[in-house]
Amino acid sequence: MVQKILIVEDNELNLRLFCDLLRAHGYQVEPVRDGREAVVRARDFAPDLIVMDIQMPYVSGLELIEQLKAEDELKEAPILAVTAYAARGDEERIRDAGAEGYVSKPISVMKFVEAVRGLLAAQEAAAAAEAETEERPDPESSPA
Ligand code: MN
Repeated sequence: MVQKILIVEDNELNLRLFCDLLRAHGYQVEPVRDGREAVVRARDFAPDLIVMDIQMPYVSGLELIEQLKAEDELKEAPILAVTAYAARGDEERIRDAGAEGYVSKPISVMKFVEAVRGLLAAQEAAAAAEAETEERPDPESSPA
């Protein structure tokens, strides 16, 4: 099954770079240019992962990460934050907001794709472990 990635990025060049790169690696991508649309678009698209620019007009990526993580249907999707100003303490703020991953701009193409793959793999492993726990028979109900 093709994995879906929502990309929230106000800069057209970066948006195009992320879209092209991820499409070339076989992902289905959905670009969002206006952060104010991000949550509604995410609900519709049901992404497996979200790439989130931090510096955007109207609404910051940090705020959006918190909003997305507050949604039951969306909170399982790992978020890869992308930021141009990696000041001291930024990574901590981004992780505190709920993002699972973080890359700084200008991105290294290889690191970016590796980060996406790593987060998707970790999420799949977590989901599989959870499914296994649910399938395990209840010892109380098993025959003696
Ligand atoms: Mn931006």
